Amino acid sequence: MPVPALSATLLDWYDHHARDLPWRVPPAARKAGIRPDPYRVWLSEVMLQQTTVAAVRSYFHRFTTLWPSVAALAAADDAAVMAEWAGLGYYARARNLLKCARAVVADHDGRFPDKVAGLRGLPGIGPYTAAAIAAIAFDRAETVVDGNVERVMARLHDVHTPLPAAKAELTALAAALTPAARPGDYAQAVMDLGATICTPRSPACGICPWRASCAARMAGTAPDLPKKTPKKAQPVRRGFAYVARRADGAWLLETRPDSGLLGGMLGWPCSDWSDVPDPAPPLDADWSRLGAEARHTFTHFHLRLEILTARLPLDAAPARGQWVPAAAFRPASLPTVMRKVHDLAAASLRHD
Ligand code: SF4
Repeated sequence: MPVPALSATLLDWYDHHARDLPWRVPPAARKAGIRPDPYRVWLSEVMLQQTTVAAVRSYFHRFTTLWPSVAALAAADDAAVMAEWAGLGYYARARNLLKCARAVVADHDGRFPDKVAGLRGLPGIGPYTAAAIAAIAFDRAETVVDGNVERVMARLHDVHTPLPAAKAELTALAAALTPAARPGDYAQAVMDLGATICTPRSPACGICPWRASCAARMAGTAPDLPKKTPKKAQPVRRGFAYVARRADGAWLLETRPDSGLLGGMLGWPCSDWSDVPDPAPPLDADWSRLGAEARHTFTHFHLRLEILTARLPLDAAPARGQWVPAAAFRPASLPTVMRKVHDLAAASLRHD
């Protein structure tokens, strides 16, 4: 099938099968002239980095209810935004989200730039996100390549070079297919094809709009593509987490430094995280080993946190951290690893 016919076939499929997503303007509405809100496109793209659509939906709803515009988000309290982001992971994204909203308001009169070059100048917007916003929100003919698109291109063209080495080749193949007409819908159509039909393990080639042109389907190699260079085993780091509760029920929490993992997020005072961590309790107390460890996997390592608990008197004076009254404490506002620590320790520190 010639290139224009491939993109036209996919757009026709998208017109009938587009996913219903809260940040999306459906194809019929788009054709009727309704334009996507760049704020919602940007917010969804940032949230979707490293996270699934299913996980993002409720966060997107809460964020757009609390902060319905980029100006509202720019004026938000940092701690409130970080607390709402808790659980989505990759917390540098939340800090950059605020920086970006404030830059859009301060430097661009509250409007997102409509081209890749302008978007790239904003905090936290890399090449992928800039292309996605330019295409989806402003209908620029940009090539948007996420994991779904890489998989679809590797199969359509039967590319056996393993990722990540194949990235440039797959991007070039995707670019060659990007049409001048409806590039925003086209970008979303390829993503939808990858998410719903050309899925990682069992592609549904029988109902695929590109089945007649797909080289991997014809070669029988589709389920094996894309090839990936095996990842190195992730190292394990260890640490201690100190969970203290005061006689009035308050919890001892600590805001983590802005730079570094979970930067700016609230958590339990911890030791360093390393091969052999140094104990670093926030104060001298009768710490008890809980006998349970919280396990969590970050991008580059697995973490095992040994939990120590203590009950403290009203006049306890920790060297670090802040007391959070029981009534104000929301475990859901903790990042996931810290919530795991809470869930393991809470029963032993019940306060009645
Ligand atoms: S025919 Fe199969 S492998 Fe090829 S693009 Fe469609 S779903 Fe993917």
